[in-house]
Parts: sequence; C-alpha cells; structure tokens
Amino acid sequence: MPENLHKLFVISSPSGGGKTSLINKLFEDSRSSNFEKSISDTSRQKREGDIEGKDYYFLSEKDFKEKIQKDEYVEYATVFQNFYGTSKEEVKTKFKNSNLVLELDWQGAYSLKKIYDDAKLIFLVPPSLKDLKKRLIKRNLDSPETIEKRLSEAKKEISKSERYDFLVLNDDFDKAFEDLSQILFESILLSDFNSRVPKDLIKRLVE
Ligand code: 5GP
Repeated sequence: MPENLHKLFVISSPSGGGKTSLINKLFEDSRSSNFEKSISDTSRQKREGDIEGKDYYFLSEKDFKEKIQKDEYVEYATVFQNFYGTSKEEVKTKFKNSNLVLELDWQGAYSLKKIYDDAKLIFLVPPSLKDLKKRLIKRNLDSPETIEKRLSEAKKEISKSERYDFLVLNDDFDKAFEDLSQILFESILLSDFNSRVPKDLIKRLVE
C-alpha cells in the first residue's frame, strides 16, 4: 500500500440513492477542511446543472479511451454504457495533502480497495426499492424505461455491498448525514491519536 497518513473513503449507492446531496453537505461542514473530493472523468453527456470540474471532467469517448491507453487511470469502469474513471493525477495531487472522498460505483470501490487496502468503503443503502423508485421519479432525469433499468442495476449494486466496511441506511437525510460524518470525521480523529505517537516510542519504552 502506498505510504500516506491521510485516509481514503469511497462512497457508493445505487443511482438515485442520494449520495451527491449527502456528499455536498459533508463538504459544507467545517470539519471537512482537511478533506478533498476526487473529481472523476466521464464520457457521459453533461446533464442540466452539471458543472465541469466540479461534478466531473467531461471527456469525449475518444479522449477517454486515449487516457486508458496511456494508463492514466487508477481505476475506470463502464456504468450505464458510459466510461467513468479516477485519474492518477487527481488522486496523486489531492491525496498527498488531504483525506480523499471518492464517489464511485462498486467496481471502482473494489478496485480502490485492492490498491489502497486501508481505504474505507461506505455503501448508502436505500430503505426499499420502492423508495428508490420514488426518488428516481422525483429527480426527473430519466424516462420510465431508464428508471426500470436503473432499478434492476440497483439490485446488482446492492448485492455488492457485502464487501463494504460501512453500511449507512439512507432512510432519513439528517440521520444518514450524522452516520456518514461520524465515519469520516471521527475515524480521522481516532487515527490522530495514533499518529501523535512517534514510530519508535514503543520500542524505546520497552528497551
Ligand atoms: P452519474 O452519471 O449518475 O453521476 O453516475 C453514475 C455512476 O457512476 C454512479 O454510481 C457513480 O458513483 C459512478 N461513478 C462516478 N465516477 C466514477 C468513477 O470515477 N469510477 C467509477 N468506477 N464509478 C464512478
């Protein structure tokens, strides 16, 4: 595992699972000052409200494939027929100076865990498929056929949550936010206790 005192958190949920609003709220919190969010590359079309460099770096499929050829991704995956990937440059720059939050699907989460075995994988679990469907309809981005496709993908995604470190029930926004902030902010505080102990202190004390 690459040597780094910072922590890496991957957050996943089925689409419509509400992770974007939760992550935005985490970054409004004053405790997030030593956290950065990894911005992925994607070949998907920009949606209304998407901001280049904030939500994603939007690339053509040709440019994305070129970056794959040049081995410029830590991980990449195809989700709903579009490419999504975390560039090595993005992780290198941000993870050196901060704790890093990545919003990835299960394929990306599993890949990251292989590279950084210390990464904490967090899965936001919807209370029911009915609730998920309601959210997908409410966000008004997809046709009824796409919603059905997203729901069947959601089942597959949820079945992958068994290898995650933390499951957060997303039945209530404030409660889910509390759970998430405990995982992110308090586990950092706890690990700070350890990092204040000089590496050779134990050895010196027992000599
Ligand atoms: P959306 O297009 O709705 O923003 O995202 C679709 C899915 O792609 C979500 O599950 C999101 O977490 C996932 N995703 C976003 N960026 C990446 C990435 O860099 N790598 C992987 N593996 N998945 C990603």
